[in-house]
Amino acid sequence: MKILVINCGSSSLKFQLIDAVTEELIAKGLCERIGIEGSQLVYQPTGKDKVTTITPMEDHTQAIRLVLNALSDKETGVVKDLSEIGAVGHRIVHGGEKFASSTVITDEVIKAITDCNELAPLHNPANLIGIAACQELMPGTPMVGVFDTAFHQTMPKEAYLYGIPYEYYEKYKIRRYGFHGTSHSYVSKKAAEVLGQKYEDLKLIVCHLGNGASVSAVKNGKCIDTSMGLTPLEGLIMGTRSGDIDPAIMEFIAHKEGKSIDDVMTILNKKSGVLGLSSNLSSDFRDLQAAYEKGDDAGIRTMETFAYRVTKYIGAYAAAMNGVDAICFTAGLGENSSFIRNMICSRLGYLGITLDQTQNEKRGEDLVITTPESTTKVLVIPTNEELAIARETYALVK
Ligand code: AMP
Repeated sequence: MKILVINCGSSSLKFQLIDAVTEELIAKGLCERIGIEGSQLVYQPTGKDKVTTITPMEDHTQAIRLVLNALSDKETGVVKDLSEIGAVGHRIVHGGEKFASSTVITDEVIKAITDCNELAPLHNPANLIGIAACQELMPGTPMVGVFDTAFHQTMPKEAYLYGIPYEYYEKYKIRRYGFHGTSHSYVSKKAAEVLGQKYEDLKLIVCHLGNGASVSAVKNGKCIDTSMGLTPLEGLIMGTRSGDIDPAIMEFIAHKEGKSIDDVMTILNKKSGVLGLSSNLSSDFRDLQAAYEKGDDAGIRTMETFAYRVTKYIGAYAAAMNGVDAICFTAGLGENSSFIRNMICSRLGYLGITLDQTQNEKRGEDLVITTPESTTKVLVIPTNEELAIARETYALVK
């Protein structure tokens, strides 16, 4: 069965067509600037040339129509007929407390996702538009929702409650939800495979380090804590997001700079993180690493502060699990930068970690990068959220 995986953003749409049985990628692509001038579809059938089509896309329905046309095109397409697509898996950012696992999309499910819109106002409405567009263009094809928050629903109360009046949890469901769940789930399961041990027997820390970044503690096959919170703003220092700060800083900046709460939120989401910390040098870790290596002050303070925060979370989660068997690095920075892995792991001697530098320099594969003597293992596992979504979708529809 071929599964179409759709990841809808507010003005973009990423897709992959995956063979659910062989798990091969058949085609992938991206629609950008949906509803904005200059929209384009980039379509890449596996093993063939990329096709870029610059064409107006008024909305997501039109974007998905173009994607389906590309997939079934006589010359560059990969299916003869759309009926070959057995199911669609949709990435959905926020499932609130309602979804602890993936689910087949029904009218009731759509209503429940809509109820979570308030918790992810930028993402969930776009995800719902994607579902509606697919339902219109592929009537009768089963659809599955795979939630970024679902994997973290196993967290105990002590990990997900904030120290604020409990009535806010009761009235508004203000609590830690966590995100990147599909990645944390995929990587932690893969780590057990690589280690040749039972998932249920392991204590794992997963560091998803990309433009968005989060850490999770996975004990005996269940997430017991994660660094992102009610929203993806909490936790690690990210590309442009602040991560953890003293909440009183918000009022302080607002008073000093004559700004509203909305202005401060924009600063914390879009102008902070490594971008802000480096005095706008860059939000891209490649630039920051190069600046560090040149001895530039902004590069040094930014990389060191970022790495320190990751180290602090690893320590906290080792404590939360009363030990740790392996630490896994994934996502753009975690997978590709031996430099950041060195910087973080050099602070983890107390866990009995020594990196094998030859292994640490390799890329693009599942790796154990510690020496055989290391008591805690360190792994690099390239994440594959689309494949995880396709697997979840197949499991529910086959
Ligand atoms: P993601 O959000 O997972 O796509 O990750 C994007 C981040 O990964 C960006 O900040 C990139 O700078 C970073 N990144 C990707 N490749 C490398 C690399 N070779 N070295 C350092 N950082 C990288």
